[in-house]
Amino acid sequence: MQLTRRQLLGASLLSLTPAGSVMAAPKAGSDVLVLGAGLAGLNAALMLEDIGYSVRVIEGENRIGGRVHTAKESDVPGHPEMGASGIGESYARVLYCAKRFGVEMEKSRPRTEPRKNEVMFHVRGEGIKEQDWADHPLNPFINEKLRNTKLSSAGFSIYSDNPLPKGDLEAWQNGQWGEYDISIYDHLIKQGISKQAIDLAFNTNMSYGTNVHDLSMLMGYQSGNMIRTLYSKEGGFSGPALAAKGGNQRIPEAVANGLKSELILGQHIDAIRSHSSGVEVTTREGKKYRAKYCICTLPFSALRHVHMDPYLEGLQGEAVAQLKYTPVFQIHFVPTRPFWEDDGFAPSMWTDRSTGRFMALKNDPENPDKITSHLAFVNGEMAKFLDRMTPNQATQYMLRDIEDMRPSAKGALKPVKTISWNRNVFAGGAYAYWAPGQITRFAKELRQPAGRVHFAGEHTAVINRGMEGAMESGERAAMEVMDRLG
Ligand SMILES: Cc1cc2nc3c(=O)[nH]c(=O)nc-3n(C[C@H](O)[C@H](O)[C@H](O)COP(=O)(O)OP(=O)(O)OC[C@H]3O[C@@H](n4cnc5c(N)ncnc54)[C@H](O)[C@@H]3O)c2cc1C
Repeated sequence: MQLTRRQLLGASLLSLTPAGSVMAAPKAGSDVLVLGAGLAGLNAALMLEDIGYSVRVIEGENRIGGRVHTAKESDVPGHPEMGASGIGESYARVLYCAKRFGVEMEKSRPRTEPRKNEVMFHVRGEGIKEQDWADHPLNPFINEKLRNTKLSSAGFSIYSDNPLPKGDLEAWQNGQWGEYDISIYDHLIKQGISKQAIDLAFNTNMSYGTNVHDLSMLMGYQSGNMIRTLYSKEGGFSGPALAAKGGNQRIPEAVANGLKSELILGQHIDAIRSHSSGVEVTTREGKKYRAKYCICTLPFSALRHVHMDPYLEGLQGEAVAQLKYTPVFQIHFVPTRPFWEDDGFAPSMWTDRSTGRFMALKNDPENPDKITSHLAFVNGEMAKFLDRMTPNQATQYMLRDIEDMRPSAKGALKPVKTISWNRNVFAGGAYAYWAPGQITRFAKELRQPAGRVHFAGEHTAVINRGMEGAMESGERAAMEVMDRLG
C-alpha cells in the first residue's frame, strides 16, 4: 500500500488524541502482534490501541526501549545514555509521547560533541590542542574551510554542499540520485580530496558506517538534507537539544506503562509464519503467539536470524540479509583524579586509535562543571576489532592505549561498564546504514508487507532518522495494518 501525505497527516493527528481517548469503537477479535518493544513497536502498538484494536507486544530483552538504553546510576555515575542520546526539537512524535505520558524533558546532556575547547586531538601519535589544529603540520587539508574545521566535525561538513532538493526529505529514495549512491571514498576522490585526508577525517570515528568504502554518499546527503532543512534558520528547529529527565529510556518505559495491551518480555522470537488467515510467532522459550497481522520492528541484523515462512523473496530478502549496521563499542570509566589538570590537555580526546572518541561527561545537575564519567565511544572497524576480544581484554587494551597517549591518566580511570551494540543479539549494531548501491537497489522493497507481516523500525524510515525515524515507521506500519483490518 502506498501512503499519501494526507493519510500520514491524518495518522499524526490521530496520535495526538488525549490520553485514554478512543477514536473508534473497539473492534472485537482484531488482533495484532507487535514484535519488539523499542520506539517503533511501542508507537505502533499505541496507535492501534488508541483506535481500539487488540494488540500484544513481544520483546526478547527483559527491559523496554531497545536501542534507547540509559545506564543505571549504580553502574555509571550520572547515568549516561548507552544508546540514543540527542532528541531534536523536530522529534514531534517522541516529544508528544513524552508529554502524553508525563516524562519531563530537559536540555540535552552533551555527549558526542564535547564543549568547545574541551577536546584535544590525538592523531598519528601526537597530542594536539584544538586551537593548534588549523595550522598544524598533520592537518592534511588544502581547502581553507576544511583546514579550519575541527577534526571531530569534518565528517559531517562534506554533506552540507548537498545536491538533494532542500525540504524534500523523501527525495533520496525517489530513484533520481543514483549517481551519488557510490562510496563516500569514491565521491571524495572525485572532489580532489587526498587519500591521507580521507583516511584521517572521514575514515576515522565515522558516525555511520564501518569504513569509507561501505557507506553510500547518498545516505550522507540524506542526513545533510535533513539537517539543513530542519535545523537551519528557515527550518526553525534546533539540533539534538533535548533529553528526558532521568534518561531517555524513561520515554519508552512511560509509553509501555501507559499501554493497555499485553507486553511480554524475555521472549526471543525464533520464527514468524504468515499464512492465509493469520500469523504465528514462535519463541525460543517454546511459546507460540497468533494474530491476524503482525508488525515486525526487529532490526534486520536480528531478523536475519529469524526463520521466516514463507521465505522473504527477491530484493526484500536481499535487504534483510545485507542491510548494514554501524558497529559501536563503548567503555565507561570513572576518573579517580583530574588527570587532565596534570598534562594541560583537554579532558576529552578525538583519537585515531582504538579509544575512538573519548568524552568527558558532565552529568551532575547540582554541579554542572564536574566530570562524572568518561566514555570511550568507538565506531566502525575499530569497534569490530574490540569485539573480537573479551570485554575484559578490550578494557585492558583500551586502558593501555589511553595511558600511552596520556601518561597522566595512568591509574586514574576506573572502568565501570562495557557495551557492544554489535554483539547484542537483539541489535547486531547501533543503527542501519546503506552501503553503496543499496538505496537504489532495495530502499523501497525493504518496507513492503510480506503476506500478513508488516515491517517497521528505524531502518524503514524515510523522512526521519534515529528515534523519530523509529516512531515514524511505527506509525506507517500501524496505518497499513489498520487499512487491512478495516
Ligand atoms: C549508541 C547509539 C547512539 C544513538 N544515538 C542516537 C541519537 O543521538 N539520536 C537518535 O535519534 N537516535 C540515536 N540512536 C538510534 C536510536 O536509538 C534508534 O534509531 C531507535 O531507538 C530504534 O528504535 P527501533 O524501535 O526501530 O529499534 P529497537 O529499539 O532496536 O527495537 C527493536 C526491539 O526488538 C527487540 N528484538 C530484536 N530481535 C528480537 C528477537 N529475535 N526476539 C524478540 N525481540 C527482539 C529488541 O530487543 C528491541 O527492543 C542511537 C543508537 C545507538 C545504539
